[in-house]
Amino acid sequence: MSDQLQVAIIGGGIGGLTAAHALRMRGLNVTVFEQANEPREIGAGISIQPNAALLLERIGLTDRIKAIGTPIAGWLMRTSVGEPIDISALPASGVQSFNVHRAEFLKLLADLQPQGTLQLGHRLSQARETSDCVQLTFANGATVEADLAIGADGIRSFLQQQIGLKTNPSSEGIMAYRGLIPVGRLSWAKDIGGRMSMWLGKGRNFLCYPVSSGRLMNMVAFVPTNLDAEESWTARGDVNALAAEYAGWHDPVQETIAALDTTFRWGIYDRAPSPYWSTGRMTLLGDAAHPMVPHLGQGAAQAIEDGFTLAVLLEGTGRRDIPERLKVYERLRLERTSQIQTMARYIGRFFRAEYGDVPERDRLMAKWMSATVWICGHDAEKAAQQALLLAGSEAAIG
Ligand SMILES: Cc1cc2nc3c(=O)[nH]c(=O)nc-3n(C[C@H](O)[C@H](O)[C@H](O)COP(=O)(O)OP(=O)(O)OC[C@H]3O[C@@H](n4cnc5c(N)ncnc54)[C@H](O)[C@@H]3O)c2cc1C
Repeated sequence: MSDQLQVAIIGGGIGGLTAAHALRMRGLNVTVFEQANEPREIGAGISIQPNAALLLERIGLTDRIKAIGTPIAGWLMRTSVGEPIDISALPASGVQSFNVHRAEFLKLLADLQPQGTLQLGHRLSQARETSDCVQLTFANGATVEADLAIGADGIRSFLQQQIGLKTNPSSEGIMAYRGLIPVGRLSWAKDIGGRMSMWLGKGRNFLCYPVSSGRLMNMVAFVPTNLDAEESWTARGDVNALAAEYAGWHDPVQETIAALDTTFRWGIYDRAPSPYWSTGRMTLLGDAAHPMVPHLGQGAAQAIEDGFTLAVLLEGTGRRDIPERLKVYERLRLERTSQIQTMARYIGRFFRAEYGDVPERDRLMAKWMSATVWICGHDAEKAAQQALLLAGSEAAIG
């Protein structure tokens, strides 16, 4: 092996591809192994929140994201019948955040990978750790040795099982109907600009935001379900069934559903926070480590924070130090992501509760809004640099 650390990332989703780029920017040699034969993403939007946008800005991606995305220009929150909800407590962030089409964002990230470093058609089927390397075997027969393996292989992570974690996914009892609609079809959206719109009602909430440079409106409609059997599935949805779920809601909600050509359903799952993520030379990031329900829009953002944290912690490190650095990573990230996992479940419940007591609702809303400062104002690279300093001082003191 060369002197440069060889890192294998399993999974070429948002988490795996950003981590690969961040690690390379800090001098590591990285290959991503993705099971799909071609880059695949679902037709849906995703928000890049300020805590992720800050990190992507540092590696020079803002202009490319601007070219495909829609800058977020605030929120409009309403009850199911259209009464405005006061969100003046929402703190402003100094960093511009964006809404993007998932497939366009994934393509942007895939295009950043140097030739030969994104190996498609590689489904990991075995991982064996020795004292100085990890041996990986793929379903296509390929074998690879690396100094470190990072599982960015999503909620059904294979690497998670290989490191001995067998936690079960848990359904929120909610599923999301998702769809994209040309903005020109929606009379209510003419002057919406980059604003996010959400309607809150009993047992359901309805979210819309523009993506693809404002050409398409992304719709996410959360409804109760008792379909609990399958994890992270997507299936074609029935527009009429969706319309029935939102009967009597504010006109723009009904207009949006009526304008859909197709919709699909997405099961909403998370896992209880894991007790650990790493062995000596294997670790996890993103949904493989901490899947969360999507109500804070933080799943991908936390995956991005993980990748940048690993990049800071592994820069310039030697092979022998990897296990120690992974302990720092785990200490740093496990607590933060576990808290966000829990908060995401709570805020989902809040969004789907109907409050007769308006001042109480607004008090709770203000409370949640202020929690976003802690989440969105975080600088994962700075936190990693501080953790390294602390680990260094502890070692010096003995
Ligand atoms: C309705 C909904 C809305 C959401 N909205 C937002 C949002 O606005 N903002 C936000 O930040 N997050 C959002 N999220 C969460 C976000 O989508 C996920 O947290 C994020 O995609 C996780 O990225 P990942 O790279 O960790 O995993 P994934 O995107 O699941 O990628 C895993 C990759 O690993 C590959 N893989 C799996 N097994 C193997 C194997 N054995 N070998 C090789 N490759 C393998 C898969 O093919 C896949 O490409 C939302 C989620 C949902 C359900």
